[in-house]
Amino acid sequence: MTKLLDISNLTRKFDLCDGELTALDNVSLSLDAGKILGVVGESGSGKSTLARIVMALDHPTSGTVHINGQSLFDLSPAALRTARRDFQMIFQDPYGSLDPRHNVGRLIAEPLYLEQNAPSGTAKRDRIAALLEDVGLRADDMNRFPHEFSGGQRQRIAIARALITKPKLVVADEATSALDLTVQKQILELILKLRAEHGISVLFITHNISVVEEICDDVVVLEHGKLVETGPTDAVLNAPQEAYTRRLMNAEP
Ligand code: ADP
Ligand code: MG
Repeated sequence: MTKLLDISNLTRKFDLCDGELTALDNVSLSLDAGKILGVVGESGSGKSTLARIVMALDHPTSGTVHINGQSLFDLSPAALRTARRDFQMIFQDPYGSLDPRHNVGRLIAEPLYLEQNAPSGTAKRDRIAALLEDVGLRADDMNRFPHEFSGGQRQRIAIARALITKPKLVVADEATSALDLTVQKQILELILKLRAEHGISVLFITHNISVVEEICDDVVVLEHGKLVETGPTDAVLNAPQEAYTRRLMNAEP
């Protein structure tokens, strides 16, 4: 069966003034449709570099990324634009990515530029309203502005925006890390609900291994750009093979 996401031997090196830094070192992983895969590792382990490459915002030094069997970096610009509808990203700080001058409806509609036959008028408003309700907000919140919402609510807006193109894959890079524990839990529950309702798959990136336990089917552990351990979440967390993984488990969230 074709994997939704298939990454092989991915390496990303950065040229620094005093040498070279290998942010990702020969990483291979895959994600089946409908699954949530956790990527954990301490700060600087290469998680965001991986996210940027999967989103085609950065290129690997070597290795391949296939999405639905298509090689991401061999697509024509037009084909890449079409494929981009199928994967969306949510970030740690939605405030930074939600332009404060625009109302919530306009912000949620932004990714629709990727769609050739994007809905307009009432159809577009209906889609935005339905998404707002899906993420636990109200339809008429579309007329309000980002500063009128709490951090957790802004993350819900960012999630609604990620879902508007009906993506198959959502990359969440530290999406709950800035939130306090209760709100974090609510957002994790929301992601689980959306997985069930919208059939999305999630690449869930976090430095906090206890979050992985809540929602991820499988987990990948990165240390200095290398994949050091992977498997079903239960197996990895119940019997970690690596001292590094055990250290992550004992770290403060
Ligand atoms: P994480 O998200 O796990 O904290 P990152 O992927 O952001 O890690 O970074 C991995 C390593 O790559 C870090 O050492 C970081 O400083 C380095 N790095 C990331 N992006 C760049 C860049 N554009 N230029 C140089 N070094 C970078
Ligand atoms: Mg990061």
